[in-house]
Amino acid sequence: MKAILIIADGLGGRPTDYNGKTCLEAAKTPYLDDLAARGAVGLMDPIGPGICPGSDTAHLSILGQNPHKVYTGRGAFEALGIGMEMAPGDIGFRANFATVEPTPEGLRVLDRRAGRISTGQKELEAAINSIKLNDVPDVDFEFRVSTQHRGALVLRGNGLCRYVSGTDPKQEGKIIGTSHPTVVGNIDAQRTAVALNELTKKSYEVLCDHPINHRRTDAGKSPANILLSRGAADLPVFQSLTSIYGVQGAVLALGALYRGIGRALGMKMITLIDDTNSLDEDLAAIAKMAVAALREFDYLFIHIKGPDNAAHDKDAIAKIAMIERIDSELIAYLTSQVDWKTTHLAFTGDHTTPIEYGDHTAEPVPIIFVGPNVLSDKVKEFHERAAAEGGLGRFSGQALPILFNYNNWAPKFGT
Ligand code: ZN
Ligand code: ZN
Repeated sequence: MKAILIIADGLGGRPTDYNGKTCLEAAKTPYLDDLAARGAVGLMDPIGPGICPGSDTAHLSILGQNPHKVYTGRGAFEALGIGMEMAPGDIGFRANFATVEPTPEGLRVLDRRAGRISTGQKELEAAINSIKLNDVPDVDFEFRVSTQHRGALVLRGNGLCRYVSGTDPKQEGKIIGTSHPTVVGNIDAQRTAVALNELTKKSYEVLCDHPINHRRTDAGKSPANILLSRGAADLPVFQSLTSIYGVQGAVLALGALYRGIGRALGMKMITLIDDTNSLDEDLAAIAKMAVAALREFDYLFIHIKGPDNAAHDKDAIAKIAMIERIDSELIAYLTSQVDWKTTHLAFTGDHTTPIEYGDHTAEPVPIIFVGPNVLSDKVKEFHERAAAEGGLGRFSGQALPILFNYNNWAPKFGT
């Protein structure tokens, strides 16, 4: 048996999205409608009713975890998602090059993306990794760039802790932050903050005078002259899905966060295409890679970011177009290629992102399960309103365990 879980980020919507319809209702989705007609449909609260999900916590819940218990932050997943190693006790951060200028108050951020730097980042990465930290004994680090200005930082050593603030003020024109403990009286948090502050200060020193940045400045571009960090997190302790279910899966996602979550749960990463976070995801290529990967792995988790980006931009037309592309490029191809005698598929979103509000909200998202063991219901279309009539009713998260159960992979609880 094979299983496929597809999560379209920010899929859910509200009737205020587009002429009284949600974007999913307004979109023409004949292939998803066909799956709805063949399968069972319902509404899923990504984490629980009334809980407004982040993408990371929603994914943990949908993939079978309790995010209230296991979530430590985003940095560890970002580091794993770009192929870095994280051991227990390591602290991962999202890290990015930025452009700062000295002022009497401190270093002021001019450009949080360092002019969307697209060349020379590996040399700057090497310069940062040559820094020696002295302020705290026995602390080491590794920085790795991913795409453009983005990357991840891992602090390693005994006695580190994730309860520290970041150095990224998250707004241009502001002075960069000094990392400090976010809990009182924790010596490990103190050590971690001191190490991060030393690294930030030294990153400015080595990057300011780097030949790459001299060339950027000469060409009228913003220099990538500091490394800013945020989202401190240690590695959550998971029982791997392979050890629970006895099957091996893979994650197919453009965003590092989603690859990292999959990897933390024991999935293999089968692609590292890019992190552009754009609407231009090559869905036809993803569909082909998925079909090829399904020959090798028992299950696939596929993540598509586009609908959420369009909704954060409050662009209903773009969200509808993205949903229609998912239908015609990804779902159409998968539907024609998988062996439906031996495959179960689930399709859903990780939360609602209404157009008017432009951010995540807590409404449940529609979900389909289809495959030989799924008892079909009367719903023949796939959207929020139709899903409210579906045979699966309304439940919270856990889509992956529900999918695995159809494949007879779920271990028995009790005897
Ligand atoms: Zn999301
Ligand atoms: Zn979002």
